[in-house]
Amino acid sequence: MHDAHIHLAMEPLKSDLPRIVDTFLEKGGKYILTQSTDLEDINTSLEIGKQYPNIIDVALGLHPVFFEENTIEKGNENHISDQSKELLTKFMIILKRNLPNIKAIGETGLDYYQIGLQKDLNPKIKKEIKDIQKQSFGKQVQIAVENNFPLSIHARDISGSNECVEDVINIVAREGKGLARGCFHSYSGDIKYLQPILDLGFYVGFNAIITYKSGEDVRQILKETPVERILFETDGPFLPPQSVRKNKKIKNKFAQPADIKEIIEAAAKVKNISPKELEKETDKNYEKVFIRKLEI
Ligand SMILES: [Zn+2]
Repeated sequence: MHDAHIHLAMEPLKSDLPRIVDTFLEKGGKYILTQSTDLEDINTSLEIGKQYPNIIDVALGLHPVFFEENTIEKGNENHISDQSKELLTKFMIILKRNLPNIKAIGETGLDYYQIGLQKDLNPKIKKEIKDIQKQSFGKQVQIAVENNFPLSIHARDISGSNECVEDVINIVAREGKGLARGCFHSYSGDIKYLQPILDLGFYVGFNAIITYKSGEDVRQILKETPVERILFETDGPFLPPQSVRKNKKIKNKFAQPADIKEIIEAAAKVKNISPKELEKETDKNYEKVFIRKLEI
């Protein structure tokens, strides 16, 4: 059992880490890949990886919404490009310094959903944010390829649009030059892009959305994804599984690595194979993607 995408540096996971890791191990868990999203959670993520070197792998990345959070949401709309470029340069320096301590680049990608929600936002500002997101993602793809690291990619459109996933696929193809590899985490866009994603050699990460009533579209994507390209993830603390969501006794609802068990059970039904078999096969996928073989 593995969790290929989680944010252990976020609360309430961070403060309760020993218990959370123990629960995962008790359920047969093997690997966790924790992802960073901004400049603040890098050190905590690296620290967590050091504490559990045989279980927790670390991915460092800059989440696409980082730029709007650090510019327009802080009331600074005038120097988005300059400020963002400075932040990106800072991140790249820290990333390069820490390459020996990580297993992947992530969470990275593009997000047109958050800016899409801001209906009153000036189109010029929207474009500036999208441009810097693309620049940042392009650089992260380049560094992944140069250093043979897999990517954990976020691609989220506003409903009815495919602009974001198309841009992501184009950047991976262009900057990756056929060498980029990794996972499209929590892909919930149009199913017609599944084949292009698989054609790029990428895996697809499935989380508790497949346990939700509303998860039918993602269950369809899962159905069409070959077992040898499936990874499981919680995206914790976000996306608690259905059993936690509907449990009125649980006040603080969040996802943790042990929830993978429930996700695998739901996925096994969709794929019509035994949970044990699915777990075994997808753990092999994790090993293939994230554990770098020692060079001889
Ligand atoms: Zn995430």
